[in-house]
Amino acid sequence: MKLIMLGPPGGGKGVQSQRLSEERGLAQLSTGDMLRLAIKQGTEIGNQVKDIMARGELVSDDIVIDLIANSIDGPECAKGFILDGFPRTLAQAKGLDEVLGARNIGLDAVIALNVDDGILLERIEKRARENAGDPRADDNAEALKKRLEIYHAQTRPAIGYYADKGVLKTVDGMADIETVAMNVAKALETI
Ligand code: AMP
Repeated sequence: MKLIMLGPPGGGKGVQSQRLSEERGLAQLSTGDMLRLAIKQGTEIGNQVKDIMARGELVSDDIVIDLIANSIDGPECAKGFILDGFPRTLAQAKGLDEVLGARNIGLDAVIALNVDDGILLERIEKRARENAGDPRADDNAEALKKRLEIYHAQTRPAIGYYADKGVLKTVDGMADIETVAMNVAKALETI
């Protein structure tokens, strides 16, 4: 199964992708995790994106398209994959079409978690408290505001692109983790 998981910052993409990945043996390809690892390791890309990420802005399309293109060929993707937090712009969605087209891979579904802006700050603050020893540089009110603005301006058009293609499954992401996981599973029954 080849899936995309999208949603606002703090909307539960990571948690739901991880569950799906464990339950169905799919590789979880999170561009956010890959970038955070690059920063931790001090790679050239890591140094390039560090400040951009801390401000809550998007890193360049080319960087994330390359990260995904390089991961998709790995053996961990044998049973399929979930792209977690990618694509986030229309240009990335089109770039992904090229990457998949060149490999003759089709997408089964794009899941978009629907979460009201109002509860995201609460969730981000909770995550910041839980990770107090090793906090994310972008889990603060100011960066969240930026991430949300970008989500509405740039990621919504990418979601619309998949709606037009007929592969979009919008899932209510406002309940607790278990209930949302059930909603995701139900949406995947229809593909
Ligand atoms: P995430 O872990 O998905 O919330 O991503 C954290 C941050 O990593 C984002 O705010 C961006 O700065 C960067 N990032 C992750 N995925 C992408 C992407 N697909 N395009 C551009 N920037 C990304």
